[in-house]
Amino acid sequence: MQIGKWYLDNHCFVTKKVFGMLINHQNLPAHVQIFPLSEGSFTIDKTKIFVPFNTQTDQLQQRPIGSLLVEVQPFVIVTPTDVILIDTGLGFGYEGTLQIHHNLQQIGIDPASVTKVLMSHLHKDHAGAVGKMDKLGNYHLAFSNAVYYVQKKEFAYANEVGFPSYMVEELGVLENHPQVVWLDGDGVIDGWIQYEITGGHSPFHQVFWLHVANQILFFGGDDAPQLQQMKSKFVAKYDFDGKKCMELRQEWWKKGNDLDWTFLFYHDIAAPIYPLV
Ligand SMILES: [Zn+2]
Repeated sequence: MQIGKWYLDNHCFVTKKVFGMLINHQNLPAHVQIFPLSEGSFTIDKTKIFVPFNTQTDQLQQRPIGSLLVEVQPFVIVTPTDVILIDTGLGFGYEGTLQIHHNLQQIGIDPASVTKVLMSHLHKDHAGAVGKMDKLGNYHLAFSNAVYYVQKKEFAYANEVGFPSYMVEELGVLENHPQVVWLDGDGVIDGWIQYEITGGHSPFHQVFWLHVANQILFFGGDDAPQLQQMKSKFVAKYDFDGKKCMELRQEWWKKGNDLDWTFLFYHDIAAPIYPLV
């Protein structure tokens, strides 16, 4: 189906909300590079504190019962015109700078060159480095030239719920900031970045499909955090709606394999990108 220079996504998997889902097939990025920005492996338990875990020397059995072992890894996607960061990591420091800035510099990317920051949700392990504190204690956006895309209801919810899941003070930098685009529901950014609220892992959690020429990258955030969870009927206690997350994972796993999506897994220790090409 063609509407002017706009096409409905041919291999479209979401057709319900047609007008919000228009993908500009004339103008998709010709190619992309994807880099996972691992901040390391951690265990997390009921306290919601992320404790570093050395996969070579530490034993999971020695961590409190119910501890989950996760990687924390934002992704940076480089296109001919954009440098896109998906989620911002824990916000931990590394030799006087943010770890995520260091990780970007390690692969030759200046943090100031990031053009877009896409936020799946605002839990502290995903939004730790939305901002950065200066010497006077004031927060600034950590990606000074980027436009941030945040669901406005997720932000309101974060402020309502607060610690320990959300770091309200640090998130405050987003409020009224001219570089923040407040998303309200589902839609498409620049004709190729599709976002949809799922309300699975958190009430206003969103996921992204990046439509690139010949390829769809899928970032399911914490609705789809690890490869293994895609393959099993697993209902997690930590999700806002665990059953919905499980159902979404099954749906995405099937569609994604049928349509050759590239999955990006934020919390996977071994397989951040699946399938690896
Ligand atoms: Zn989360």
